[in-house]
Amino acid sequence: MEQKRMEAVQSGAALPPKMIETLITTALKMRERAYCPYSGYSVGAALLTKSGKIYGGCNIENAAYPDTVCGERTAIFKAISEGECAFVAIAVAGGRSETPEGYSVPCGSCRQVMNEFCDPDDFTIVVAKSTEEYKVFTLRDLLPESFSPAALV
Ligand code: ZN
Repeated sequence: MEQKRMEAVQSGAALPPKMIETLITTALKMRERAYCPYSGYSVGAALLTKSGKIYGGCNIENAAYPDTVCGERTAIFKAISEGECAFVAIAVAGGRSETPEGYSVPCGSCRQVMNEFCDPDDFTIVVAKSTEEYKVFTLRDLLPESFSPAALV
């Protein structure tokens, strides 16, 4: 599922429903790869690049708890390490049960990392229970009044 090629979309605001469905399906599948023996809370993410690739990610816990990394950042760091740094959208699904019962919204650290690489008004965040039940946000919705790279120019 990593680097699965999609039709290139340049704007998260114009994300077609079919693409949202593909991202959610990928995020749900990525939950199977989560390493979460401590919390039992598995998270999958699917990041769509402007070039049309999808990078999957999952949460990876550690006995030293702060060294845990979230599924969203796993996907973003994978993409960046492969030379991709322009992103359209990310879908996230997580929970303790096999089928997510709630919406797993990105934590503050993941939102800040997204803010480093994404236009807050044009990056879409989909949080999903299933391909039928999901919510769509922009990064600005979830991280208003953010500290951004522009502050250090
Ligand atoms: Zn996070």
